[in-house]
Order: sequence, then structure tokens, then C-alpha cells
Amino acid sequence: MFSTLSIANSSSSNCVTKCRDWVDYCYTRPSKLLFGGRTISSERGVQQGDPLGPLLFSLALQPLLKELADTRAPGGLELVYAYLDDLCLAGDAACVAAALATLQARCAAVGLRLSTGSANNVDKDKCELILAGGSVSEVDVGQFPSDFKVARNGNFELLGGPIGCSAFCNAHTQKRVDKAVRVLEALGEVPDPQVALQLLRQCASFCKMLYSIRCVPPNSHAEALKSFDSQVRACFENFSCLHPDEEQWKQATLATNSGGLGLRSVMQHSSAAFLSSRTSCLELCRQLDPNHTLQFTDGSEPAPERLALEKYNDAVNSDEQIFSSSNDRLSQKALSAAIDKRQKESLAQPGAADLSRQAHLNLISASGAGLWLHATPCRNADLANEPSLYIGMLQRWLRIPFSLTDVECPRCDGILDSYGDHALCCSGGGDRTRRHNLLRNLAYHAAVAANLNPELEKPGLLPHRPLHGANYENGTSYSEENSGAGARRPADVYIPRWRAGPPAAWDFAVTSGLRLDVLAASARDADEVLTKYEDFKCTYKDTKILCQSQGMTFTPMIMEAVGGGWGKIARGVWSELAKSSALATGELETTNSCAVMFRQRLSMTVHRENARACLRRFGF
Ligand SMILES: [Zn+2]
Repeated sequence: MFSTLSIANSSSSNCVTKCRDWVDYCYTRPSKLLFGGRTISSERGVQQGDPLGPLLFSLALQPLLKELADTRAPGGLELVYAYLDDLCLAGDAACVAAALATLQARCAAVGLRLSTGSANNVDKDKCELILAGGSVSEVDVGQFPSDFKVARNGNFELLGGPIGCSAFCNAHTQKRVDKAVRVLEALGEVPDPQVALQLLRQCASFCKMLYSIRCVPPNSHAEALKSFDSQVRACFENFSCLHPDEEQWKQATLATNSGGLGLRSVMQHSSAAFLSSRTSCLELCRQLDPNHTLQFTDGSEPAPERLALEKYNDAVNSDEQIFSSSNDRLSQKALSAAIDKRQKESLAQPGAADLSRQAHLNLISASGAGLWLHATPCRNADLANEPSLYIGMLQRWLRIPFSLTDVECPRCDGILDSYGDHALCCSGGGDRTRRHNLLRNLAYHAAVAANLNPELEKPGLLPHRPLHGANYENGTSYSEENSGAGARRPADVYIPRWRAGPPAAWDFAVTSGLRLDVLAASARDADEVLTKYEDFKCTYKDTKILCQSQGMTFTPMIMEAVGGGWGKIARGVWSELAKSSALATGELETTNSCAVMFRQRLSMTVHRENARACLRRFGF
């Protein structure tokens, strides 16, 4: 609304007392702007980028706004508020016109003036007269300055949000969608799907519409939101060359810790965002307008808040529904979590999904399973992937089949199911051994970095591994001499002094939660299979007791292959290892990022090796 600020005047006004000297220092002499060979003397307005600028501006305007606000009365001037130079006066036309005249006169006295069409063309349309009565309004516009733009339909934009009829709001959001689509189309062409997915999730999808869905009632722009959702899906399909069906896409819209890709639907979550925003700013609204209320249940016309509440209640389980018209602040995070929960449950319903799919969803929601989806593609940290491999990882995550039917496994005599679950525990081709060794090596190198002096494969420490089919659990082949009662094998990683105590033997095993004997358990609880296997490892051939008698702690490091979740004992080791690493480098504040980065690499490794095993078997 205002374009010019005379600093000399504003700084001499009575508001600036405490920072007066500082302002004088900054602004008593004009600053010099260098423009090529020329020097321009900057004598008016605040300096570009000066954080004092908005403060000085507000200080100059504040007393006047307060004075006007004190004259508020029902039927007269009803609203007076401003966010920096966006100022709003509302109420009876004659009162608004009078307040405007006062405003203009008093602003001129402190060096501020309204930007209207008459000043110059650049600022045209900055002042707008909105006739709230719409086209039937009988307001005499003659009492307002003639250079004001007049909106006769009652629709207008305030601070980037649309206010008016549904068609206006929808068109406003659609404009934002159209702008965002240009980015989505470009992202669809990015050759590296890992880069594209990161950018899509972090900068080009949900966040682009967040402001709109917080300030516009969901029903007023449903069409535009729907079109945005479908553009996000098209973008994903373009860079990944995957074509998820409805169920698979529904899964992709879940958060990454719930088995999704974090590509949250704006349509689905619009009620959560709107309700949260409305209840969170209620107090502030009341300060601007003492008569302001939330219209959850009253009124004969369906109020936006009520419609949003109905939409939200439709999208969540009955125990999460909100019925009261209480004025409690609602958290968007909590509301969205309730929507996600219901979405996920509908995906895993026994009617909608078979036991394997239920178990799959559960296993990839395990703690830390989705960390690979957040890894920044960095080659030096081994977090970057070949595009084809990364697409295989996404395909497995969303459970999109690799082939139309089950086929014979080219690496063993087994049946290769179309989802590639068999590839995770196939005994042929050495893939299991490779995966096991990569995880073991990651742990070894992390222990080296933490100054723990680990030893890789220290011989003669542990009884031999349990058998999985024809091979040992780490994928190596069975040998007669190793199976004897007294036979000893090396520990994967031996730590001479662990947690300031006796030595520890870390023993790695990867187990699949989709094995037939544990399938039902996995569908119930992702941790159950891990806990069971930890117990099994400890008791198998009395390994734990045997280690204790040797003065050593046996630490089973168990990972579930489908999701990449770790057992409780291993999780404890990882966080301890991150702490030791941070201590070793002397940068204690890095403990958390160190732990996350490390677990990202573990998660990335298992998903990458799983995808590789699938691609090798399906002949890609
Ligand atoms: Zn096989």
C-alpha cells in the first residue's frame, strides 16, 4: 500500500528511542550505491536488505494504526490491521472513507504515502476498494479516491491468500498449480531418479501448496488440488518409469516412516491443514476482530470450518474424529498422522491385501527402514545409486511386480515370485553373502572411525552359524568340518573393549520377514521376527553362554531384509557407535547427524543389494 519512506521523519518519530543512535548511525548520511562506473546516492527509503527496514516502517505506522483501531465500533469502522505495508480497513463505507482520509493525512506527515495508480504505473492496483456486498452493493464509490481499483464482485487477495467465492479461490489455487507444474514437468526429465525424488519431495510437491491448503477451505479449491496431485503422480511416473496402480500410489503418498515415499496428497490433507491453521490463529483473529468465531456447528449455511471438519472426520478412524466445537489448537502434524494411519490401515486390510502385502507394509514401516529414501545422493558417502538400481529399489518398496507371473529362479532350483521376495533369501549366486559382508564391513569401518580398534573376522571365537536351507545364514555353503560340535568360526567384527567393558563379538545375520514360517508374525508386528531371531542366535549352540565363559559379550546384529529394520540389540550398538564416533572426532554436536548418516548407509546398502539381486534374476 505504501511505497516511500522518509527515514529522517520516521526515525525522529517518538517510537524510536532505544535504537535511535543505531538508526542515526545507519541513516544520517546517504549511502552510496555502485552501479557500474557510477555512484548513486541513496537518500530515500531504507537500504535494500536492511533488517531494520521493516522495523522502522512499522514503528512509523504503529501509533496511527492503534489510534484508528481504538475507534472501532460495530456498524462503524470494524477492522483495522496491517502486516507491514499490507493494510486493511473494513466496515461501514463512510467510516472507512473517513479513516482512509485520516490515514492519508497522517501518513503524509511522517513521510509515507499510499501507492495508487496516480503516482506511477508500477504501483497501480496496489490500493483496492472491495465491495463486500458484491455486484448489488449500493456503496457510493465516489467517497473514495478515484485512483483506487474497485472490486465489485467481493473477491480479493490478502497476503497471498484468496478471499471470496469458491470459484475465485479455486482459480487462485489453480494459478499456483499451473506455476508449480512447470517445475514438475522439468523434474520428470531429470535422468537420476534419486535426485528427482529428493527434489520432488522436498521442494516441488506438498510444500508448494501448503500455504494454499492452510488458508483456503478445502471444499473451495478441491478441483485445483486434485489436478496438482495428479501432476505430482505424473512427475513420479516420468522420472521413475514406474506406473503404480491405485493401491501402490496410495502407499507412495504415505510418510516414509509408514512405508510410503512421502509424496503426501494435498487433497487428502487439505482438511488437516485448514483446521490446524484456523484453530491456531484464532486468538490472533480475535485480537483483530473481537466478534470473530469459528463456525464448526452453528449457522444454517454450511460453514467452511464445518465442512472441513466433516471431510477430516471422513478420512480418519472413529476414535480420532473431532466432534466438539472447542477452540483447542489442532496440530497439523497430529491430524495428518491420523489421516495417514487410516490410509495405511485401508491398504493393509485383510480384504484388500494378502498376507505378504500386509507383512511387507509392516516391515518397511519398521524403525529406520525408510532412511534410504532421505539420503542425499553423495558418491563419496556411498549414498548415490545407478538409476536402474534405484528404480528397482523403489519398485520393491512399492511392491510393484517385476514380472507378470512366478518364474524359475536362474540362480537356484526355487520359484522366483513376481515381486522378487525369493531373491532376498535365494541361496544361489552369492548375493546373500555379499549383502552380509557389506553390512559387516560398514560396521567395521564405523568402529575403526570411532577408535575402537576392531578386528575383522577374528578367528576361532564362535560356534558355527545356523543353516538356512542348504547354506549357512550368511549365504556361505555348508561344510562338514564346520558343523562339528567343537568347530569354531571367526566373529564378524571383534571389538577388544566395548562400552568400557569386556570385548564384544558382533555377529551379523539378515533374516527375511516374508519367510513362510514368520509371515503371520510379520503382518502383526515388524519387531517380532527380529526379536525371535536375536533369541535364536543367542541360544543356538549355546553361543551366548559360550562367549560369556570366554569373557566376551555376544552381540547378535540382526537385520530384517525386506524393510531394512534392525533388532533392538543392534539399534543399541548403532547409537553407541555414533556417540563413540562423535567423541573420537571431538564434535559432540554431530552425534545425531552421525547416527542418521550411518543408518542411512546401512539402509541404503540392504535396499540396493536387494534390488540388485532382483534385477539379476529377472534378467534386467
Ligand atoms: Zn533362487
